[in-house]
Amino acid sequence: MVDPAECTIKVMCRFRPLNKSEVERGDKYIPKFTGEDQVSISGKPFMFDRVFGSNTTQEQMYKASAQKIVKDVLDGYNGTIFAFGQTSSGKTHTMEVSERPIQYMRNAFGQMLSTSVGGSLHDPDGMGIIPRIVQDIFNYIYSMDENLEFHIKVSYFEIYLDRIKDLLDGMYYVLWHIVPWFSVPDEVMDTIDEGKSNRHVAVTNMNEHSSRSHSIFQINVKQENTATEQKLSGKLYLVDLAGSEKVGKTGAEGAVLEEAKNINKSLSALGNVISALAEGSTYVPYRDSKMTRILQDSLGGNCRTTMVICASPSAYNEAETKSTLMFGQRAK
Ligand code: ADP
Ligand code: MG
Repeated sequence: MVDPAECTIKVMCRFRPLNKSEVERGDKYIPKFTGEDQVSISGKPFMFDRVFGSNTTQEQMYKASAQKIVKDVLDGYNGTIFAFGQTSSGKTHTMEVSERPIQYMRNAFGQMLSTSVGGSLHDPDGMGIIPRIVQDIFNYIYSMDENLEFHIKVSYFEIYLDRIKDLLDGMYYVLWHIVPWFSVPDEVMDTIDEGKSNRHVAVTNMNEHSSRSHSIFQINVKQENTATEQKLSGKLYLVDLAGSEKVGKTGAEGAVLEEAKNINKSLSALGNVISALAEGSTYVPYRDSKMTRILQDSLGGNCRTTMVICASPSAYNEAETKSTLMFGQRAK
């Protein structure tokens, strides 16, 4: 059974290292870590469940933010993990792996496969939360007895201008029946890459490939004990949110401005839902955005929710970092 005391929303904060251009520009490294759960920016303290400095490994991040949720999903609970932050703050790095150029090729069965250009595709140390979750789920399956039948289903979609786009053109199913199929986690990652090629990307001053849409990766796990006919089902949403930066800094206009307004609206709707849940409020405004409507049955109640607040350590991004940390603070 799950301890009710653990049924809270957890907010973690992760700072990436200074990047090459920030170092070259001589940017100051501004966060001051004053404990496991506190960071100060220019003297202003922010508290979280955990704070992670720039040398945090992907494995440490996974263990602290996701491993427990995966266990709960296998016990039949629903959960959601969000990555929130400005463009280039490390959301995709945290959730998947670093974004990298991808080439596509077909395998012998005519399926599209992706390969990275320069560097290993699924470097085990570099793997973010999603591939580690997939790995853990399959390790669990391998360890279970033969009476358990697993059905794993993944889907991947994005929300752009409050519209949903299915990135995999229908559901992608993995049916499992205790047959060793060790390549499955890799297949799931290839599936993500395939979906990615269908995402909306706009060029801004901040980052050439800044993502202007929310991407949602969903894993459903169904288990059935064929001897007792006992069934369990849990699902997990893994959300790489659109960049939270203010419009002014990216020099947006026209269509890009429209995108930015929309992103702003959906992120504040999400913030309102999370803070209503954190306050234990009786009214939770799920219906205010498409995303919160979709996530409704995996947010709140006895669901597990973790928000990973991603931030840049550079003085150049100080204002943005402060507003990012404020957003996370609202959920506490
Ligand atoms: P976002 O998805 O928030 O726009 P990315 O995850 O793409 O940001 O990160 C931007 C860049 O910073 C990438 O090149 C990524 O590899 C790098 N990066 C992000 N977080 C880390 C980290 N914790 N350690 C090392 N590099 C990181
Ligand atoms: Mg990204």
